[in-house]
Amino acid sequence: MAYQLIQLSIQATDNINCPHCQQAVINWSEEQYVQPCEHTLFIAMDIGFEYITDEFEHTLRRTVDDMHANDDQVVVIEELTASSYPDFVIYQSDLGVEGYSRYVGITA
Ligand SMILES: [Zn+2]
Repeated sequence: MAYQLIQLSIQATDNINCPHCQQAVINWSEEQYVQPCEHTLFIAMDIGFEYITDEFEHTLRRTVDDMHANDDQVVVIEELTASSYPDFVIYQSDLGVEGYSRYVGITA
């Protein structure tokens, strides 16, 4: 387990860019605003997953389907940080709803 958590001081309506290729992986000018690049491991919120690679899902303690089925018991950030993926960065941003965050996982 080797992750880094970086809190982004951005608004919920701001784009989130990949630090490697600069692609806007959250891009509000697109109808489908989730635009993962090759460095994106997951895009999640406290209330569920928007995107995850098979490779990253295999490093988690439980599957995304299982988490969604038990979302009253699952704390998404705890599951993400329990991943056995070797090296990744979690960019946390405010979801614009009290107490909720979005988490974008990028390879280190
Ligand atoms: Zn990228």
